[in-house]
Amino acid sequence: NRAIVAVVGRPNVGKSTIFNKLTGKKISIVEDTPGVTRDRIFGEVEWLNKYFTIIDTGGIEPESDDVIISQMRNQALLAIDMAHVILFIVDGKGGLTAADKEVAEILRKTNKPVILVVNKIDSMSQFDNIYDFYELGLGTPFAISGANSMGLGDLLDEVVLNF
Ligand code: GDP
Ligand code: MG
Repeated sequence: NRAIVAVVGRPNVGKSTIFNKLTGKKISIVEDTPGVTRDRIFGEVEWLNKYFTIIDTGGIEPESDDVIISQMRNQALLAIDMAHVILFIVDGKGGLTAADKEVAEILRKTNKPVILVVNKIDSMSQFDNIYDFYELGLGTPFAISGANSMGLGDLLDEVVLNF
């Protein structure tokens, strides 16, 4: 009955990078190829004496007919179903996309706590990139850089508040 946190978002936003930082293990595949993570991957995280299971997923691409993409979509939906808290990752470098809005709609219907995370904010000069994402209607975004391990502590504080 350990809490479960699902990491979701469209391909290439940095889900696996964040998963690896939070679990401290290189057990999730990270590559430049969008959506390279094809399996659900579980890891354990401890923060402030609280423990939870985190699930990395492939991306959700609602508009694609591609078989692999639709399988990834299914496993992302499975992970969402299992989760107590959802980390919705978006790309602060690439900006808001139509796919992000569709994922937001899916997440809204779950009635589960969703934490909006704007990744790839690698320096303070990129902080203004977060404002467009308020449009998703999921509250105040957390600005992080998975690659540079910035903002992860504040994010984890918020995650464990939900247990
Ligand atoms: P996923 O498809 O959502 O799992 O994304 P990945 O974790 O595989 O990352 C996709 C690409 O984004 C890779 O080239 C990563 O190195 C890059 N990336 C991930 N996090 C960051 C970040 O915080 N800043 C920048 N600049 N690149 C990042
Ligand atoms: Mg991945």
